[in-house]
Amino acid sequence: MLKIKKNIALLGSTGSIGTQVLDIVKNKPDLFEVFLLSANSNYQLLYEQILTFKPKHVVINNKKGYLFLKKNVSSKHTHIHLGENDLCELVKDVGVDLVITAIVGSAGLMPTISAIKAKKNIALANKETLVVAGDLIMPLAKKNNVSILPIDSEHSAIFQCLVGEDHGTIKNLTLTASGGPFLKLPLKNFNQITIQDALKHPNWDMGSKITIDSATLMNKGLEVIEARWLFDIAPKNINVVIHPESIIHSMVEFFDGSTKAQLGLPTMTTPILYALCYPCRTSYDGKSFDLSDVGKLHFLKPNYIKFPHLKIAYEALDCGGSAPCVMNACNEVVVEAFLNKKIKFTDMFKIIEKCLEKSIFVAKPTLEDYLIIDQEARKKTKLLIK
Ligand code: NAD
Ligand code: MG
Repeated sequence: MLKIKKNIALLGSTGSIGTQVLDIVKNKPDLFEVFLLSANSNYQLLYEQILTFKPKHVVINNKKGYLFLKKNVSSKHTHIHLGENDLCELVKDVGVDLVITAIVGSAGLMPTISAIKAKKNIALANKETLVVAGDLIMPLAKKNNVSILPIDSEHSAIFQCLVGEDHGTIKNLTLTASGGPFLKLPLKNFNQITIQDALKHPNWDMGSKITIDSATLMNKGLEVIEARWLFDIAPKNINVVIHPESIIHSMVEFFDGSTKAQLGLPTMTTPILYALCYPCRTSYDGKSFDLSDVGKLHFLKPNYIKFPHLKIAYEALDCGGSAPCVMNACNEVVVEAFLNKKIKFTDMFKIIEKCLEKSIFVAKPTLEDYLIIDQEARKKTKLLIK
């Protein structure tokens, strides 16, 4: 049982993960206190969250939202701030026990680094931070004695399987993937995929960017890179298996032939709760899990011809250096363009491939390099879209 109350800083509080974190906080007022909330632009929802959770600080990225909150929130209880610099300062506050990174995209990178430097433990949903700069983040966390606690369900599963195990005994990691809405759609029909089709995930209800990433399987590619850094495992020892029921969340194979898996219904509440309460488990009301209700579980090999995003993510990881950062930035731009009806579903891969070809390779980027590489890749991608 978790006994000491944790003060949390929740980055990305208005998103899918952010709101699920706050549902847990509401259910467990004896365990969590909200110190800070942050969001990009949804100031109406942020305003409601302020009234409910009474955080000490709130950071918003959008000027209009900032002015609205400044006008309508009593500064006696909550201080309102604007922009990334303020966020990077506030996550360092002595009042913060745990920073939950639920921002989408590489925008999570700088606040996460700032929090790690201030020795704050991180509950990490924002996988893009590790995709972009995992080679810098993990050593920085180690140096500052900071735990990076995964929220992503696959990584939470692996993390749970590894409790009590020696790192040297790991043979392979297997990430499961639902396969997304187009698992059974023939490749010849991919040209006609609409935004509505791509946003209909069979098992999970998530933010729009990760939902599109799940439809292309780029999400699984990002997760392979996330796993490579989180668990310090060579890319060749990280496998992906398509498991349409999303009941087994991931697996670890050990060198004695034993494989451990973590199972459960497809809900983010379990991995979020595990990360928030780690190293304890906390009870939570939910539907009980009965395998006889599930009946059958299926497993298939990924189809790289239909889903080349997964292959290109492995290639970028093998390439190392700046390649995953370029791929991630480019992916963020093409997903947004697809959601804004500027390109087709099938264009997304072609543009990412071209952008990677056209980018200069940097073997060992510094943080400053990564920031420039990310911006350059975005510019290139936008030009390619035009
Ligand atoms: P979302 O789009 O629903 O929410 C994103 C949040 O980030 C919002 O609160 C938004 O205001 C904030 N944000 C966006 N851009 C920002 C910026 N530039 N600066 C500051 N804040 C910004 O996304 P989500 O589905 O909650 O996903 C969040 C992260 O968690 C992603 O990295 C995703 O891959 C990961 N994740 C999500 C799920 C899920 O079930 N949704 C599962 C596993 C991992
Ligand atoms: Mg996942």
